[in-house]
Amino acid sequence: MAELALAGGTPTRTAAFPVRRTMGEAEKRAVLEVMDSGELSGFFGSPGPQWLGGPKVREFEEKWANQYGFKHAISVNSWTTGLMTAVGAIGIGPGDEVIVSPYTMSASATAILFYGGIPVFADIDPDTFNLTAVTIESCITPRTKAIMVVHIFGQAADMDPIMALARRHGIKVIEDAAQAPGIQYKGRPIGAIGDIGGFSLNYHKHIHTGEGGMLVTNDAQLAQRCQLIRNHGENLIEAHQVEDLTNMLGSNYRLTELQAAIGCAQLDRLDGYLAHRMRLANYFSTKLADIPGLTGVTLAEGAGHAYYLYPVKYDASVTGITRSTFVKAVNAELPPPQIWEQTGWVEAYVRPLYLAPMYQKKIALGSNGFPWSMNPQVNYDYSKGICPVVERMHEDELIYTPLMREPMTEADIDDFVFAISKVLANTSTLRSM
Ligand SMILES: *Cc1c(COP(=O)(O)O)cnc(C)c1O
Repeated sequence: MAELALAGGTPTRTAAFPVRRTMGEAEKRAVLEVMDSGELSGFFGSPGPQWLGGPKVREFEEKWANQYGFKHAISVNSWTTGLMTAVGAIGIGPGDEVIVSPYTMSASATAILFYGGIPVFADIDPDTFNLTAVTIESCITPRTKAIMVVHIFGQAADMDPIMALARRHGIKVIEDAAQAPGIQYKGRPIGAIGDIGGFSLNYHKHIHTGEGGMLVTNDAQLAQRCQLIRNHGENLIEAHQVEDLTNMLGSNYRLTELQAAIGCAQLDRLDGYLAHRMRLANYFSTKLADIPGLTGVTLAEGAGHAYYLYPVKYDASVTGITRSTFVKAVNAELPPPQIWEQTGWVEAYVRPLYLAPMYQKKIALGSNGFPWSMNPQVNYDYSKGICPVVERMHEDELIYTPLMREPMTEADIDDFVFAISKVLANTSTLRSM
């Protein structure tokens, strides 16, 4: 077989992978229409019809709710602020514990800290990389107020047992579905299977508005509390006769009319993107099934997958070369990425969140140990070893590829698979390098 690119041979492919472009004519027209109207934001932070935003913001929210079957959709200026809003709306306060995965974007956990809640990290399932009812249950204490479920990489977590557990203990469930818009679990749209959840609209996600987010819930009271937190709730509680003042000090998390107009056009594209990704991912999964040492996505029963990223478990004891050598060797066979999305393999995902200095030193808000100091009788353990599956994925097993996305084709995936096979057929060269 041909010599590996890493050893000076000819790479499998030099022509760049196609670049994803989500913005088109519809978005340009939508923006110009808003520009011509002159009203770039329609929000007032005081009582009156405009406290819920301008026409485009409302259209975007209604469109999202109708398209995917939610009673309420509330737009926000990022999904990070969306998560904060959700945590606030369900009433998390200082010292309340919220169970969350450590294998996610940092914001899933920091949103808890912003209300003085304490993130308690539960381990993940080694096949879906999501929290499960079993891993969550072992973390429940009398102080647990909520569970933050993250549908990581785009795969729906197994919600039925999680909801049953949560209801049994009287705790709330937030869904961080940033990576899984438009996805179902057993025929129900994820995002509002729990009490509240939502999606990110940042540039890297399936569809975007530059920055932005969308909260969804089927609970009218939670929806109103989100609207209040989003837009200076303290000014509006009397007009809306809101009795419960918990966390009703608001902020400004408002989306602009320009972004909402783009979002409306983007929504028309989402199902097509998802179908494209599922097609490519299924094709790739079939190919991976024949490659020893690599385990592709296994879909849990009833779980949809948005394939924000395609995760693979790598077994060095089968291939005979280390994970980082494998990643380097395959990527050397592929065209150098101009942007991250054109990368073949990426090693690991994020470092387990609890290993970050903030958790190690327990310094987040102020410098006196708040919010952990709220429960002085509890020794919150963030030491290495608390979530062995996450650590194993991070250190040894997990690799992912962002290539399973539009406008990539099966022929592009064939080149990727060829590069993988070429490397695995030449591991002896790599072992001696
Ligand atoms: C992207 C992302 C976020 C944050 O979304 P932003 O819109 O960038 O603030 C939160 N959680 C997960 C899992 C994400 O992937």
